[in-house]
Formats: sequence, C-alpha cells, structure tokens
Amino acid sequence: MERVYNFSAGPSMLPVEVLEQASQEMLNYQDSGMSVMEMSHRSPVYEKIIAEAETLFRQVMQIPDNYKVLFLQGGASTQFAAVPLNLLSGSGKADYILSGQFSTKAYKEAQKYGDVQVAASSKDANFSFVPQTDKSSFRADADYVHICFNNTIYGTKFPYIPDTGDIPLVADMSSCVLSEPFDVSKFGLIYAGAQKNMAPAGLTVVIVREDLIGKAKAETPSMLDYKLMADNGSMYNTPPCWCIYVAKLVYEWILRIGGLEEMKKRNEKKANLLYDYLDSQSYYVAPVEKSSRSMMNVTFVTGDADLDKKFASEATKAGLVNLKGHRSVGGMRASIYNAMPYEGVEKLVAFMKEFAKANPKA
Ligand SMILES: *Cc1c(COP(=O)(O)O)cnc(C)c1O
Repeated sequence: MERVYNFSAGPSMLPVEVLEQASQEMLNYQDSGMSVMEMSHRSPVYEKIIAEAETLFRQVMQIPDNYKVLFLQGGASTQFAAVPLNLLSGSGKADYILSGQFSTKAYKEAQKYGDVQVAASSKDANFSFVPQTDKSSFRADADYVHICFNNTIYGTKFPYIPDTGDIPLVADMSSCVLSEPFDVSKFGLIYAGAQKNMAPAGLTVVIVREDLIGKAKAETPSMLDYKLMADNGSMYNTPPCWCIYVAKLVYEWILRIGGLEEMKKRNEKKANLLYDYLDSQSYYVAPVEKSSRSMMNVTFVTGDADLDKKFASEATKAGLVNLKGHRSVGGMRASIYNAMPYEGVEKLVAFMKEFAKANPKA
C-alpha cells in the first residue's frame, strides 16, 4: 500500500524526510554500531543527541536564556497536574480559561491542588469560539493563568495572547507548537505533548521561566518536579530517548525549510485553501467562529450524521484517512499539522467537491 494522507489529530504525520533519515540510521546510528533505541542514555553519543535537540529547539523557538527546556514523559495530561503542583506556590490560586475539553481537564485536575477558578468559558456555545478576556478577568493575586492555545477537538485557536499583567501565563500548546513563531517571553510556561507536531508519542516538552521553578509543593512526586528535572538535564531517570532523537530530526527539518516563519506560511496556505473552500459553498458547514479558527485542526459537518459517516469511509478509500471528527463533536476534522503536504489538502478539497456532487441532500 502507498502512504496515505493522514489527517489524524494525533499521533499524526511526520515529515517523510525525517522518517527516511530515521530509517537510514535505524540499525547503526552514526557508526555507533547500534540503534538510538538501544543506546544507554548516559553514553556520550546519546548525550550529544539530547544536547543538540535542546539547542535546536531553542533556536527554532527562539527561547530566551532565562527559560529551561525539559524533555519529559507522561503526555500533556501529566502536565495538568505538574503545573499546579509546581506553580501554586504563592496565593495558591489559579485562573483557567475554558475553551475546550483539554482546558477543562486541566482545570479539573488543578482543582485537586488549590483554589482554582474559571476566568472565562465558551462551554455554553459548545466551545465554538475562544472567550475574550482582559486583565480584569483574572484575580490579581493568582499564581498563574492557564489556557489551551489551540483546541484540537473543536478546531479553535486563541486569536490573541491574553494580557495577564504580571501573572504568569501557562499555555498547553500540544497541537500548535512549532506551527508558527510564538513570543515565548509572553508566557511563564509552555507545555506540549510531542505527538501532534513534533515527534512520536511519549515525549512532552516543557518550556518554563527559571524564576517559576524550585517552589513545588512538598508532596510533588519527584518525576513531576520541574527543578529536579531541570537540575538533571531531563535525565533524572531514563528519558524517552528515541522520541527526543526524532524530535531533533524534526527541528533540523524545520530549520532546513526556513524556520517557523516559513512553516507558518505553509500552514496558512494549507488552512486558507480549506477554509476558502468551506466559505464558498453551503454543503459543508464549518461550525467554528471565523475569528477563532485553528490553522491546525479544521472541523466541518454536512449536517447529516449518515452523510458524515459516509464521507469519512469513502475518504478512507480514496487515501484520505482519519477524517472522522472527535467522538464528542461528530462531523469531520482535518488535522493539517506541519507534516501534511499542500497536495494532501488539495486532494481533500477535490474529494469534498466530488462527494457533495455525488451525494445531494434531500
Ligand atoms: C492531545 C492533546 C492533549 C493530550 O495529550 P496527551 O499527550 O495524550 O496527554 C492535551 N492538550 C492538547 C491541546 C492536545 O491536543
């Protein structure tokens, strides 16, 4: 079978060049006589890999020197607990903006550890937009404000960076990290599971401002303590070695093509192609408010559950896979992360046109 266009929300496509390089180096990484999968994480050859991964990631994201980069395990979901355990060190208060399922999960987890409130929510509108906020939306003595920058399930993205004044802003960027340049200095902490836009599942990256670490609650498990992880260079225990290596290849790929500015251009071009088509017709409806549209996850429905089902199954036969929407939303979702080529979106739009013609609504 040929490679398909995989619109999965995650784990998702990786760049073919990266997969090819990984496969070329699979049995014998740079004359080490072994695969990266088989290496001691304490070996000089692996230490070079993780050091380079961090250097490249800092370069790609233009991370200021006063931020630590941590390569962790446990997925973004583990950060839902790690963030409050490490950051609720002052008033014990945190404010959450609810813009979808992951931010709601993060909020519920944080409630176990402190005085955690909802600052704004679009739940009543089925999370079809990202709520507006200003400084007055947040408690002035909050230890941090938490957002989910790109809402993978609903297909929305923050059209703005909330102004939290001096309160550190924490962002779950699992599904938009590396998709465009971000001004890291606007955030106290950024975390991202790797399996959407960076690497295979198993790696979670945390970027945290140095002054925010070292104040974890006493009961914080060692594995969730940012200070311990930072002091040990993400090697307190065995890190997800293979994933970090693939992430390094992805960072190199991004730099090769021209960095995050170029990545953004490509991603905009892909998203515009799909959204422009959606806006030009009435067979499919994009349920999300235009100003909150995600560049990575594009949701749409036909308005008829049977047609939606038929769409996903016929698309699969045409080599366009994983277009079924999240079980909580229904309809379709096309995740068009960095590694999705423009041609994949062209094929999708062509398929959508054919499907609409062949399946008129009653
Ligand atoms: C996928 C995703 C998660 C969950 O990630 P895990 O690594 O499975 O824990 C959390 N937040 C966002 C925004 C996601 O897209």
